[in-house]
Amino acid sequence: MNLRKKLIAGNWKMNKTPADGAALVAELVATVGKLTDVDIVVCPPFVALESVGRALEGSTVKLGAQNLHPEASGAFTGEISAPMLRALFTTHVILGHSERRSLFGETDAFINLKVLAAMKNQLRPIFCVGESLAEREAGATLKVVQTQLEAGLEGVSKEQAAGLIVAYEPVWAIGTGKVATTDQAQEVHAFIRGLLTNLFTEPVAQRIRILYGGSMKPANAPELLAQKDIDGGLIGGASLEARSFVELVKAAVAAK
Ligand code: PEP
Repeated sequence: MNLRKKLIAGNWKMNKTPADGAALVAELVATVGKLTDVDIVVCPPFVALESVGRALEGSTVKLGAQNLHPEASGAFTGEISAPMLRALFTTHVILGHSERRSLFGETDAFINLKVLAAMKNQLRPIFCVGESLAEREAGATLKVVQTQLEAGLEGVSKEQAAGLIVAYEPVWAIGTGKVATTDQAQEVHAFIRGLLTNLFTEPVAQRIRILYGGSMKPANAPELLAQKDIDGGLIGGASLEARSFVELVKAAVAAK
């Protein structure tokens, strides 16, 4: 029996105004808004959380943010805290995305503080790890993923880990149209499951969803989602249109 419900999460990145976001979500709610056999999360930009949250009311689709600051409040110009996200009924938050790591200099140690802040505030982290093309070509994929995972999850308790979601996103596959082969993805997902077992015990690791992210589209999703340790997808480009996102949700329903 599979203990893990499939999860499809949309990372809208810096796209959609509050009105555009609400309109997209209205289409999702009309088509897949009552599903319970697959979890769906949409992660709009901060400014659209409120309008999108309102459009999601009464549906099973959950609201996620794309980042947070580890402190609850204070002199951190331009930042948003976990309690602020909770006040908008956000339940999930993407942390450690490769764009945050590479474009905004986020270190494993800083990401770790964010993960701990999310957990303390009952937000589920969608915690991203993944290697660059140079790291893959140098044969360092597993080492890189291990370092990011162990450093990012330092201090997370077994009880807290039950609410964790991990996303394996090979950097070279994000927004490039290059998707990892199912074997490449499954190898890393199984490796991550092993690391989670070492950190949190087997029963906990068996319950943690590990999403694949990197150019997942309706055409390649069925094969990826059929893999034993691929429990869903973190979707960038294909989450910006209702039609492709709904197709991905349907692929997850079919693979459950
Ligand atoms: C992402 O940025 O999380 C992502 C997976 O993007 P895309 O689907 O566009 O590759």
